[in-house]
Amino acid sequence: MSDGNGFMWTRYANTILVTGGAGFIGSHICERLLDRGYEVLCVDNFYTGTRGNIGHLLSNPHFEVMRHDITFPLYVQVSGIFNLACPASPIHYQRDPVQTTKVSVHGSINMLGLAKRLSVPILQASTSEIYGDPLVHPQIESYWGNVNTIGPRACYDEGKRCAETLFFDYHRQHKLPIKVVRIFNTYGPRMHPHDGRVVSNFIVQALKGEPISVFGDGLQTRSFCYVDDLVSAMVMMMESEEDVRGPLNIGNPTEFTMIELAEMVLKKTGSKSKLKHLPLPTDDPKQRKPDISLAQKSLGWTPKTSLDEGLDRTIAYFRQTLG
Ligand code: NAD
Ligand code: UDP
Repeated sequence: MSDGNGFMWTRYANTILVTGGAGFIGSHICERLLDRGYEVLCVDNFYTGTRGNIGHLLSNPHFEVMRHDITFPLYVQVSGIFNLACPASPIHYQRDPVQTTKVSVHGSINMLGLAKRLSVPILQASTSEIYGDPLVHPQIESYWGNVNTIGPRACYDEGKRCAETLFFDYHRQHKLPIKVVRIFNTYGPRMHPHDGRVVSNFIVQALKGEPISVFGDGLQTRSFCYVDDLVSAMVMMMESEEDVRGPLNIGNPTEFTMIELAEMVLKKTGSKSKLKHLPLPTDDPKQRKPDISLAQKSLGWTPKTSLDEGLDRTIAYFRQTLG
């Protein structure tokens, strides 16, 4: 609906805007918010997200979707913003690196400007990548990170770092209510089967009987969080009556090597695929594990889903979608 001056308005007064709402995590946020009785406006340019991710929500009268690129201004009437728009997997964010930096910087400025005009809270989906290849282990929020400013991952890492700066400056300068979560590797249903992330790659390869692509020696570590646990933390942070600003690490601190992950996937799928070692990508972090004590203390949140259980649910999803 337009007011004649080019301004777009939503129909609802109590609407939560989810940018990147047609993506993997965004679609789960939209679903959870609808379950909790909110009106949801999903804004997405479908760069990596799909209509399929939100197909089951389209007939819900409390859900609305708008195709829009957040590097351009957006004028809507909402009561809170989850800012998730940004490609998240290395192959996607490196495909158009200038756009990746733009979505974190220009996109955040646009969404922060919107939040400021409306005086509403805004949550930023930041990332463990802001720690780069960390020299402190496990990573704690007070660690400032070890990022290569000119490498192929910098468009994402530095974009997200600048977004955090913008969020905290809008808070200091304009008293904007902000929330920043640093998301550690998250997996689950609706990951894109070809987005190159390790959990989806290994499952899809195992189900298709293709070689399992282990980069480097496979001894690098990651800590994998099931999407439902992440979404609980993000919604709890937004709904918290305390002024919990973060940055808060959100992830599951149980750490695995990529070889261990591959072995679990092979065992669970019953696949006969063999491991195939490929070169380690440039600047690939050697280890990653969140210290989540701050989130536990300030939100009373702790992840509930083990990798064992989360993999079962994710494998079931891919079995169904791959047919
Ligand atoms: P995703 O690629 O599935 O989702 C990103 C969504 O943003 C997609 O729907 C995409 O189309 C949309 N988008 C991209 N550019 C846009 C633009 N200019 N305007 C509007 N929409 C745009 O990725 P995801 O895994 O769901 O990640 C969501 C957010 O969480 C991202 O901000 C990502 O950086 C962050 N994050 C994710 C992980 C993870 O493990 N999945 C880890 C750390 C941080
Ligand atoms: N990885 C791998 N095989 C793949 C995809 C990724 O061994 O097919 C490795 C990758 O090198 C990294 C880890 O798995 O060490 C996690 O990669 P992902 O892209 O999922 O996330 P990120 O590197 O952003 O943490």
